[in-house]
Amino acid sequence: MQRVDVIVLGAGIVGVSTALHLRRRGLDVALFDQVHPGEGGTFGNAGLVARNGFCAPTLPGFSAELIDVLLGQSSAVQYDLFSLFKLMPWLKKYMHASGAARANEYARAIAPFKALALKEHHSLAKGTTAERFYRKSGWLQLFRSPGGYGRAERERHFARIFGVDYHEVSGGELTTLEPGLRAEKLHGVLWPESESVSDPAGVVEALWRAFVHEGGLFYEADAQKLEQRRSDWRLVCTRGNQFHSRRVVIALGGWSGEFASLFGESFPLARFRGYYQQFRARSGASLSRPIADVEHGYMLSPMENGIRLTTGFEVAKWKSAPSSSQLTISERRAKAIFPLGHTLPHNEWIGSRSFLSDALPVIGPSAGVSGLWYNFGHGMDGFAFGPLSGRLIADQITDRPLGFDLSNVSPLRFKV
Ligand SMILES: Cc1cc2nc3c(=O)[nH]c(=O)nc-3n(C[C@H](O)[C@H](O)[C@H](O)COP(=O)(O)OP(=O)(O)OC[C@H]3O[C@@H](n4cnc5c(N)ncnc54)[C@H](O)[C@@H]3O)c2cc1C
Repeated sequence: MQRVDVIVLGAGIVGVSTALHLRRRGLDVALFDQVHPGEGGTFGNAGLVARNGFCAPTLPGFSAELIDVLLGQSSAVQYDLFSLFKLMPWLKKYMHASGAARANEYARAIAPFKALALKEHHSLAKGTTAERFYRKSGWLQLFRSPGGYGRAERERHFARIFGVDYHEVSGGELTTLEPGLRAEKLHGVLWPESESVSDPAGVVEALWRAFVHEGGLFYEADAQKLEQRRSDWRLVCTRGNQFHSRRVVIALGGWSGEFASLFGESFPLARFRGYYQQFRARSGASLSRPIADVEHGYMLSPMENGIRLTTGFEVAKWKSAPSSSQLTISERRAKAIFPLGHTLPHNEWIGSRSFLSDALPVIGPSAGVSGLWYNFGHGMDGFAFGPLSGRLIADQITDRPLGFDLSNVSPLRFKV
């Protein structure tokens, strides 16, 4: 039996960042997951740390994109009717929170996270082997039609308000930036202040190694085995060791909502599936930065071992068999603008993005359960926000001044 200052559940980017920040504040920390750190939901993301992203993702309005969604031909959104129907009450709240009327409110709430995310990545990664994965080449949004470009104006509007730089790039300039692109019919927006990484799981692995090297503990365990006895928490890990602590941080990504409900706490959290597949580039073609085909909702990101295609959202039962249609549609569209080569063997993956109904994460102490802390619901930006939200939890636990208004992300906002 061992007593620690904090138990952290979940070793994705959020949990590992939380654990490392806490350890660096001198606390005894034990981190737990069922899988190797970084091999859960964080494993296959697009590796983007975007400086922009002031609008919550939403369903397309009336457009060719919406028709694609309805016909099951969209790379951005796929659904099965049963899951969509079940999601309706949540979706209604989400559409309200992410709609035009509340755009200003959302942008103002997310802007401080966007301003600090990259700095926090660098500061946490400094001196670890994660440093080598960061790339300062920005990211590129591609538009196939003036309509698509116009629908994304709100994002550029907020970028101007918050002083985030972007450049419009026309066909010729686009090929200078990315020589492999078939850019004649595309219009681009380059976000130079963003960065990306060439291996998101590699970043988590490197931060986890730093955590262990600096004295942190990691064990395999099923978080469901956590028990509370008065103000004491107990977790028995797979090998039988028993850990006790007064504080537990829940960083279980898309599984955090179900987990919180075991302790009588309820959060409006929805989990969406997303896929990736990796390709070789055809000989001579390469990418220097992530690119998004905005109207079709997929991305291509250069990774250590090939080009990663990541899809948009799939509304489906988590445990239902993976469907190949979103990847197939995305691949066909991607090949029209970039010369993707063969798929790499064993390189398909299914992961999740989890959203609270107001599209903002939960970072803070439970309103009703003593010693329970939450860090989840980071939506599209979980990889980008992990180091920052880990720091914010660690600052709260160790009573450091935050310099940050956390009321928008407080768990209290869902307390009725
Ligand atoms: C296709 C796709 C592309 C994306 N691209 C980007 C991007 O470019 N930039 C960006 O910022 N974000 C991106 N995201 C989102 C990002 O990947 C996630 O928001 C982020 O990884 C969430 O991290 P996390 O640590 O909260 O969750 P996870 O990485 O899912 O970690 C949670 C951990 O909890 C563990 N766990 C669950 N249940 C239990 C249990 N019972 N016992 C023990 N352990 C348990 C899991 O094994 C997992 O390791 C993308 C997501 C997808 C799907």
